[in-house]
Amino acid sequence: MRIHKKSKPKVLWFQAITCNGNTHSFLSANDNRMRLFLDSFDLIYHPSLTVNITLKEILSSNIEIDYLLVEGAISSNERFFSLSNLSTNSLINKLIKKTKYLIAVGSCASNGGIHAKFEENKDIKSLSKSIEAKSLSLLQHPIINLTGCPVHPEWILQTLFSLKEYGKMKLDEEGRPVELYSSLAHHGCTRNEYFEWKVEAESFGHKEGCLFYEQGCRGPMTHASCNKILWNDVNSKTRVGMPCIGCTESDFPRDNMLETRKNIGIPHEVPLGISKRAYLSLTGIAKTFKIERLHKKLND
Ligand code: SF4
Repeated sequence: MRIHKKSKPKVLWFQAITCNGNTHSFLSANDNRMRLFLDSFDLIYHPSLTVNITLKEILSSNIEIDYLLVEGAISSNERFFSLSNLSTNSLINKLIKKTKYLIAVGSCASNGGIHAKFEENKDIKSLSKSIEAKSLSLLQHPIINLTGCPVHPEWILQTLFSLKEYGKMKLDEEGRPVELYSSLAHHGCTRNEYFEWKVEAESFGHKEGCLFYEQGCRGPMTHASCNKILWNDVNSKTRVGMPCIGCTESDFPRDNMLETRKNIGIPHEVPLGISKRAYLSLTGIAKTFKIERLHKKLND
């Protein structure tokens, strides 16, 4: 009896206007998870990781792509031609005709990100704003936005494994998987006790204190699981004393990201879900308790 082995779903990673940060992040995935990915999927093309076939050959073939991952922002401007005089925009619109699922990897692909903000060329856009409407309707699923600058490697893997297993994912209003983006970066931060009792960090890189009051931490306003699914399995920005800069939100990048905007000493923005008045009452009370333990060095 001949046993037919089921072929693995095909993944194509396309790079548009990007710094490669999401590729670097993906390569730092947990070893076992990366091995499972390579065993479960067929990575047919990545501009820096695969050698068997070129993008040009894929475009002229009848190869079907199960998961098209796009890193970087998109433009139809001739400055960003990348292959055979085709712009990133026309390449994407060709590839999508062969594709079942389209995944924006990182903040530039999801929202335009740093390139859309700082490039003089205003034609740089997110993936969802670059796709022709009739192509979108051919996809098996709405575009999935994996925001983050860069996106966490495990979020990419969890998305692929979920789609492979269930064929769909519940998305929030910005197209992000709810499973990965429903809680805030503040969730699981080791500095929560300092936040509650309004104890400020002296500066970056210290073990003690909360970074919300002076250093611009946006953990309480940012949908991301960075403090639940740790980076390199051990850490996060806030755990090492750097503020969350809110890179998973659509208004990223903002100006002056490492300082807390204030008006007469009151933070311009307060944690999601609480009114400014209620927040001020709470913090006013918290500040009246001086808990000596929280004002000492953890390790002298
Ligand atoms: S450092 Fe940021 S994420 Fe951590 S407790 Fe303070 S505000 Fe929340």
